[in-house]
Amino acid sequence: MPSYKIIPNYSLKELTTIKTGGRTQYFAKVSNIAEIKELIQFARESLLPFLIIGNGSNILFSDEDFCGIVISLNGKLKDIVFDDKNSTVTAGAGAPLMKLGFDIARRGFLGCAYMAVIPGTVGGAVRINAGTLEEGDIKDHFLSALVLNPTTGVICEYDKDSMRFAYRNSVLARSRKIILQATFKLPQQDRLYSKEAQKIVSELLAVRKAKQPVNQKNFGSTFKRPLPGKPPGWYLEQAGMKGMRVGGAMVAQEHANWIVNVDNATSSDVKKLIEIGQKRVFEKFGIWLEREVIYLPEDMEDWHD
Ligand SMILES: Cc1cc2nc3c(=O)[nH]c(=O)nc-3n(C[C@H](O)[C@H](O)[C@H](O)COP(=O)(O)OP(=O)(O)OC[C@H]3O[C@@H](n4cnc5c(N)ncnc54)[C@H](O)[C@@H]3O)c2cc1C
Repeated sequence: MPSYKIIPNYSLKELTTIKTGGRTQYFAKVSNIAEIKELIQFARESLLPFLIIGNGSNILFSDEDFCGIVISLNGKLKDIVFDDKNSTVTAGAGAPLMKLGFDIARRGFLGCAYMAVIPGTVGGAVRINAGTLEEGDIKDHFLSALVLNPTTGVICEYDKDSMRFAYRNSVLARSRKIILQATFKLPQQDRLYSKEAQKIVSELLAVRKAKQPVNQKNFGSTFKRPLPGKPPGWYLEQAGMKGMRVGGAMVAQEHANWIVNVDNATSSDVKKLIEIGQKRVFEKFGIWLEREVIYLPEDMEDWHD
């Protein structure tokens, strides 16, 4: 008997940090690899698309209902296991990245503070090489990942080279493959550093709270930083976007690259703000800002096996 229930007609608002979107035909939380495979088989037999969701912190779901299955990774797929002898840690793809970051800091490893401030899961973070400009990103500590090809059922190990990490990008960023777990090499450790490492994390969190509306409903940065170029927030602010409102969505006063759901926003409200921002920045600076937030299910059309 599988330990999961397939819940019909589930609200996508509950699954994302921006709290917008329609409903999904089915939602299920799985606990192990066998259950993922079983659900994929169910999806195939039912001719339904499926989607793995992490913490929903980089997603804008459509207001239309999703005729498919949304799968969340739980149970064993959230385990975090330290290997002190080899100074590595292996985390299930469903593990919260913040928990991983805090656990690492508590053990006295310096240098992974960026993990402790990003509210995604390990799978979602590996997929786009999440990180912060100042503190580093996933590629800095990544050793390998186990990845399931849902079409063939084969599980492969990806090392750092095969991940082809780049700024908020990797070989899996537009892939239907499923990240099952990732192993990270830990930086310098000393039990004495534990307090110091935790202090660095707390300070980083405090800086973010002061500059970004982290406690409101949002999905973090809307756009990627143009390379070369200034941070997107700078262009958006110059283009007069700060505080602009469409329906219940607003460009944050604290940071023009963040959109917040202030009053029952729809995804369509958010998309309109994104389009206005892109258009204005293009007209003023000739730069087309690329979205960091993922539109689902629209963006899935470009995904490959
Ligand atoms: C307050 C706030 C602050 C943020 N700060 C940062 C920051 O500093 N740096 C940064 O990089 N990002 C930041 N983000 C964005 C977001 O947290 C990251 O992009 C994070 O990596 C997304 O992870 P997730 O688990 O929420 O992924 P989701 O949003 O759930 O999913 C994103 C995509 O990944 C796919 N996916 C998820 N899990 C898997 C898996 N196991 N296998 C295959 N595909 C998978 C999904 O299908 C989807 O396409 C922030 C967001 C918020 C709300």
